[in-house]
Amino acid sequence: RSKGTACHEPRAFAAADEREARNRLRLAGELQTAISNQELLFHYQPQFDLGTGDLVGAEGLLRWNHPTFGLQPPSRFIGIAEETGIILDIGAWGLRTLATLAARINCDRRVPIRFAFNASVLEFTQRDMARFVAQIIDETGCRADWLTLELTENLMIDEPAHIRAAFAELRFLGVGLSIDDFGTGYSNLRYLENFPMSEIKIDRSFVHGVAHSAAKRVIVETIVKLGAALDIRVVAEGIETETERAIMRTLGCSIGQGYLFAQPMDESEFHTLLDRGLILREGWSARRLLTQ
Ligand code: C2E
Ligand code: MG
Ligand code: MG
Ligand code: MG
Repeated sequence: RSKGTACHEPRAFAAADEREARNRLRLAGELQTAISNQELLFHYQPQFDLGTGDLVGAEGLLRWNHPTFGLQPPSRFIGIAEETGIILDIGAWGLRTLATLAARINCDRRVPIRFAFNASVLEFTQRDMARFVAQIIDETGCRADWLTLELTENLMIDEPAHIRAAFAELRFLGVGLSIDDFGTGYSNLRYLENFPMSEIKIDRSFVHGVAHSAAKRVIVETIVKLGAALDIRVVAEGIETETERAIMRTLGCSIGQGYLFAQPMDESEFHTLLDRGLILREGWSARRLLTQ
């Protein structure tokens, strides 16, 4: 951009803003019908026991198969879905979808797979989440302890009594409650103090590069100790290398998720993975199981 155009910038910005606003409005409109048009889907990313190599869980990660833009990651539309409240419908659809799949997959498994759902703060402030989950469990035949709700710290901003009550009821039902991206929020520890959490997910920023950072190793070790003392399961997200896996295991982290094992995959690939047998040994890559 040449220096001479400075005086035109405000107008250019206004135009860009307007375009951006129109785009968001259009996306919001399209998102409104995405559920009924069956454009939303989950990809599943498996979680493995770092000791035995068993597949023990899967996180449902939302995707929008947009008619013209193709497969969209959550960063493209979750913000809009939250601003418009559409996330409530999406969350209801998502939870029901995960519970239905969990019921189908786990009915004939000796060791069930836990399915993790990323809950949005609005789902706790705008609906009776405990009652809602109980109803879905009832409808689908999913067991409460096959589901884990992952939460980020924005739920803790203020700590209304009814969120606390919802957490207690969910735990009473047996639903897992996980703190996602643990270590990155301002009030992560408040969760542990105030709520009956069952899981901590160590943020991938502490996992990535753990081999080269003594500080990261100390932080991970401390989180693992915290988990052990409070009887909370510790999961490492974002494991990308064999070295990271080995270190996280050595530091006492019991479960791992990340590109080393598998990227998030569509439902049919996930079924293939389940069919092929689920224990990772050498190489620790589920990709190899899928392509064998
Ligand atoms: P998250 O819950 O922390 O999910 C993990 C994200 O890290 C996923 O991105 C996943 O694909 C990515 N990831 C997994 N393993 C690795 C790895 O080894 N290395 C790297 N670099 N990345 C890895 P994704 O699918 O784009 O999801 C982003 C975020 O969107 C999620 O973060 C979650 O906060 C949100 N999200 C996803 N699904 C839903 C949903 O159903 N509802 C709501 N409200 N939010 C969702
Ligand atoms: Mg998550
Ligand atoms: Mg996470
Ligand atoms: Mg994350």
